[in-house]
Amino acid sequence: MKFCVACSMPLEKEEFIALHNADGDFCIYCVDDQKQVKSCEDIFKGGVEYFINEENYPKEYAEKIVRKNMTLLPYWKNNPSACLKGEMLSDEEFKKLFCK
Ligand SMILES: [Zn+2]
Repeated sequence: MKFCVACSMPLEKEEFIALHNADGDFCIYCVDDQKQVKSCEDIFKGGVEYFINEENYPKEYAEKIVRKNMTLLPYWKNNPSACLKGEMLSDEEFKKLFCK
């Protein structure tokens, strides 16, 4: 299965893919109306809101998850952004969270 290279959302259906370029596939949430990849800040904020609303995690914990998640993704490895600097989950904590 394909995953969004900017937020790791599973791209189960073709309509979830909003953009494909040299970096890979991007989901509809990571691309704006002009077909530009959103800023790191916007994608980070969206991810944090997701974990707060869907999983009821406290804000600081949600931020640590999203920061770790985005740091591991190919797009942000190629486009390092200051917004991903800060506290994040360890590899161990991250693995535990997603291998339930
Ligand atoms: Zn995405």
